[in-house]
Amino acid sequence: MEQRELFNIAGREEFEYIMRVFGACTDDYLFFFDLDENYYSISERAAERFDLPSNHFYNAGEAIRKIVHPEDFEGLKRDIQELREGKKTQHNLEYRWVDRQGKTVWISCRGVIATEGSRVLIGRVTEIGSKRKADNITGLYAERRLQYDYQNIQSEGIYKRGTLLRIGIDNFKEVNERYGMDVGDDILRLIARCLEKVSGANRCYRLSGDEFAVLMMEDDVQKARKMYHKVRIMIEQDRRAEGYQNFYTISAGVVGFSYRELEFEQLCNFSEFSLGEAKKNGKNCSYVFSQEDYDSYMKSIDIQEKLRHAVNHGFEGFEVYYQPIVSAKTERIVGAEALLRFSCEEYGMLSPGVFIPILEESGLIIPVGEWVYQTAIQQSLQWQKLIPEFRININLSFIQIRKSDVVSGIMSSIEKAGIDPCTVLFEFTESGLISYDDSVQELLDVLNENQVKIALDDFGTGYSSLAYLQNLRVNLLKLDRSFTSKAVRNDFDYSLVGYIVEMAHSIGMTVCFEGIETREELEKLLKLHPDYIQGFYYGRPVNKENFYEQNLTKYNKVS
Ligand code: C2E
Ligand code: MG
Ligand code: MG
Repeated sequence: MEQRELFNIAGREEFEYIMRVFGACTDDYLFFFDLDENYYSISERAAERFDLPSNHFYNAGEAIRKIVHPEDFEGLKRDIQELREGKKTQHNLEYRWVDRQGKTVWISCRGVIATEGSRVLIGRVTEIGSKRKADNITGLYAERRLQYDYQNIQSEGIYKRGTLLRIGIDNFKEVNERYGMDVGDDILRLIARCLEKVSGANRCYRLSGDEFAVLMMEDDVQKARKMYHKVRIMIEQDRRAEGYQNFYTISAGVVGFSYRELEFEQLCNFSEFSLGEAKKNGKNCSYVFSQEDYDSYMKSIDIQEKLRHAVNHGFEGFEVYYQPIVSAKTERIVGAEALLRFSCEEYGMLSPGVFIPILEESGLIIPVGEWVYQTAIQQSLQWQKLIPEFRININLSFIQIRKSDVVSGIMSSIEKAGIDPCTVLFEFTESGLISYDDSVQELLDVLNENQVKIALDDFGTGYSSLAYLQNLRVNLLKLDRSFTSKAVRNDFDYSLVGYIVEMAHSIGMTVCFEGIETREELEKLLKLHPDYIQGFYYGRPVNKENFYEQNLTKYNKVS
């Protein structure tokens, strides 16, 4: 039976009854709107959620005006007028209502004129925000809608190229925790309003959580960056006006693209990557997509998979190399630094500069680091049979210290191996010491109590002062090649290194110069009285067999 006949058969009361029954079976709100009588009836749930006089009322136009978003009312009025004048018989609009809390609610309203004589519109209202095509907090379209729009433009073929600007709030979780969810929602709304203002005719979307997007109809990444900067300025002005009650920043990723070449999913990947890069670059900035950067990022993901596979297969592909450390006085070998290597079929041997950051980011440095110190301690024990005081230097990453119980692991490895703890030395980098916390202090205390030695690696690349290092009871300073090579070429740096050595000695630390490559460098730097030398001049890092061949037989004449 057609709706038109149904309404003719049933009177208004019967119809309201039917609406109540069907209304209980759906999340939508069912309604009928007698346009001639200006009488409106809707499911009771709608009258509870929105500020309507009741679930049925006369003077419908006036009552509805109260719940429609002011910007959308004119459009709705025009549509109803056309229905009234018989210019059309179908109503199908997506627009915004405002709920009793004053929050925007995106709705889709569809109906048909169901009677011939008098004009009665019958239909349903769906909250599309709850179906994620629009966002109730900011009033913007949601991610699903971005996909829908993108694919439409793609299939229409009118626009060939475009730009996607993706904006994210930095540390939004902290903002919510510190200032509360309501402030968080206000910030989302503010950014949405700013974006709408700066984006002109382009559509804005709220993506998941704390992210927004603008889909621009032209390929102009610089324009997108300008848009982002304008939003930043507007936010700053708002914060000033509010008396700096809260603090947050935003970052942006920008992708210029061709509709023909890029599927929506790929665009999402590229824009997520771009925003991620902006955040990695220190936040509060923008990043424009580069295929080259993306490829190297994908390569690092691939390397990470290979590293994970190796960890789960007995550390296959990992190898510990050793580089000699020589006494500056006697020029005899006193120990070695253990340096990790990784090789796989696809990439050959990778440099630690490439794979150590990946191990750190993925947390794999925890099992791998443990494997390194266990392997290196065992190896050192072997070489102590030849040189009893042989010392092994092992690098430790701050991820191991913060995110694992590395101190117990180290101490139990030392005990199990039965090695003299004085002959084991752990190297830390300056950057880690700066973000120093309780876990670092605990580790340093335990190592000190147990006579395990501590070195500060790459000294001269950061900002730590000697006095501060003395408090941490660091035993050895390792001066990075970037520093020692400058000292060879430049008088000022030469004197500076000389003072550092003197001061370090005066507070009971020893000093190792790293990166000595030639006899000439060595002779010049030896005059500054370092305790140890490490560099290609005495030997490159090599595997244990070559280390034995090249170093132990040569310096100590042991067979
Ligand atoms: P590092 O601890 O400062 O190690 C010294 C680096 O300087 C080594 O690079 C070594 O090959 C290089 N080097 C030594 N002498 C010379 C020289 O005369 N000239 C030049 N140009 N370079 C020299 P490598 O092996 O590539 O290691 C790089 C960095 O990777 C290490 O710097 C260390 O920070 C990290 N790393 C290596 N193995 C491990 C490990 O097992 N765990 C952790 N956490 N980091 C490691
Ligand atoms: Mg080192
Ligand atoms: Mg170093």
